Amino acid sequence: MPVQAMSPTEEAKLIEVFSSIQGEGLWVGCRQIFVRFADCNLACRYCDTPHQPQPNCRIEDAPGSGQFRSLPNPVSLEILHGILSQWHRNVPGMHHSLSLTGGEPLAQVEALQLWLPQLRELLPVYLETNGTLPAALEKIICDIDYVSMDFKLESLSGAQTPWDEHREFLRIAAKREGFVKVVVGEQTPVSELVQAAGLIHEIAPQMPLIIQPLTEQGRCAVRGTVLLQLQQEVSRIHSPVRVIPQTHRFIDVV
Ligand code: SF4
Repeated sequence: MPVQAMSPTEEAKLIEVFSSIQGEGLWVGCRQIFVRFADCNLACRYCDTPHQPQPNCRIEDAPGSGQFRSLPNPVSLEILHGILSQWHRNVPGMHHSLSLTGGEPLAQVEALQLWLPQLRELLPVYLETNGTLPAALEKIICDIDYVSMDFKLESLSGAQTPWDEHREFLRIAAKREGFVKVVVGEQTPVSELVQAAGLIHEIAPQMPLIIQPLTEQGRCAVRGTVLLQLQQEVSRIHSPVRVIPQTHRFIDVV
């Protein structure tokens, strides 16, 4: 039987919607509205993000309140747009952007195709992605303002690094402002990071590379001397290279 093309849908499975401070990457410190999507196409060994679809998702009552209520899944564009419009009216100017996070938001690209033109009228759209679904990105890149893209290194994820997918994804993502983030541990081989830096330099030389040390039990799990050495080696291939840990863990916000 021929595979039928997926058509856009008004509904998406969500995990949570809340307002917080971006703790990673170039826009660290910016206040954002986070929409966490369910589902992911990968199974990284270090994943600590809940992304299995549930009958209900949770929505913060007011931005930053930390108080949540349940909403049945899947959620419609009409409902989400209503909530976010109210937040935007109540605290105009506070939010830098709307962060699509996960899970992997592009796993539900059919909903994003319908959602983003309307949501982008409220706030710029910031996509946090594992960088492995280039065909999905191509469908919505016109409605994306910022891209935070991961490279998933084999030494940490436990699966072969999807270099071909990352290459194609980066080619499309380079049309927007953004950066590539690589999570590293104590044992990350320099050769893996050098390969990542070489790919960025070839495809998107303007994009910064962010080295993000692994967080374990709320602490940075990589010694400073290791990070200094990695930054030094990778800077020979590509620039700029910044080392930024997950700062939201330090100030105890979601
Ligand atoms: S891509 Fe992200 S959400 Fe998906 S398994 Fe890996 S760490 Fe978890």
